[in-house]
Amino acid sequence: MSLVLKSSAEIDIMQQANRIIWDVLEEVERKLEPGMTTMDVDRMAEDMIRSAGAKAAFKGYPHPGDGSPFPGTVCVSLNDEIVHGVPSEKTVLSEGDILSVDCGVVYKGYYGDSARTFPVGDISEESRRLLDVTRESLKKGIAQAKVGNRVSDIGHAVQTHVEGHGFSVVREFVGHGIGARLHEDPQVPNFGAPGRRERLQAGMVLAIEPMVNAGGPDVLLSASDGWTARTRDGSRSAHFEMCVAVTEDGPRILGQLSGSNGG
Ligand code: MG
Ligand code: MG
Repeated sequence: MSLVLKSSAEIDIMQQANRIIWDVLEEVERKLEPGMTTMDVDRMAEDMIRSAGAKAAFKGYPHPGDGSPFPGTVCVSLNDEIVHGVPSEKTVLSEGDILSVDCGVVYKGYYGDSARTFPVGDISEESRRLLDVTRESLKKGIAQAKVGNRVSDIGHAVQTHVEGHGFSVVREFVGHGIGARLHEDPQVPNFGAPGRRERLQAGMVLAIEPMVNAGGPDVLLSASDGWTARTRDGSRSAHFEMCVAVTEDGPRILGQLSGSNGG
């Protein structure tokens, strides 16, 4: 991997790529209801990405272990699943579930990558709090994405917020630089002491993506599909992700409509 700074013209294209994802996630939020399958969500995303003239970034992504291709357009992670859940006709959503949808596209040669966790119908008070704390921790992280800070200032802000609310941060998966490749340097952990790692510079674009467990931080990888990561203790997990450009004028959140709160 390498660290690549982007011009404002490149950041504008990445804004468009992430805007396509924003529209997908808004549509999922509107349509999501008990009785749908995670494959229904996948098809909805696939149709919208294609109509927008973009390409799904995760479909065919090689497994880091055996190189087998990821089969879905989006990752759909249900309840105690953290990330990388595989869409299936057999996974039917029920009232009270929470579903994380992670969507990546490539558009005009540049990647976008964003995720949200959605409630399915009415959810428990604890699940609601998990979603709120995770979404808020992403905002705290984004606020640190400014010139002169260091990468670990982002993760420190995320971790402090999450642990202050009694939840835990996943260590095994981290955010990342993004651009003409889906994963670039630097890695962006959601934990750690402040003032460490790379110094943030204008032109860096980062995918910041806290993964937060209601219980302990430990992760279990699915033996059956090889992709799905879930919580070891069976507690629920949430995931919010946005791409952010570091600019001289402060963090520029890519993808969202102006004035919107990021999900
Ligand atoms: Mg993602
Ligand atoms: Mg990502």
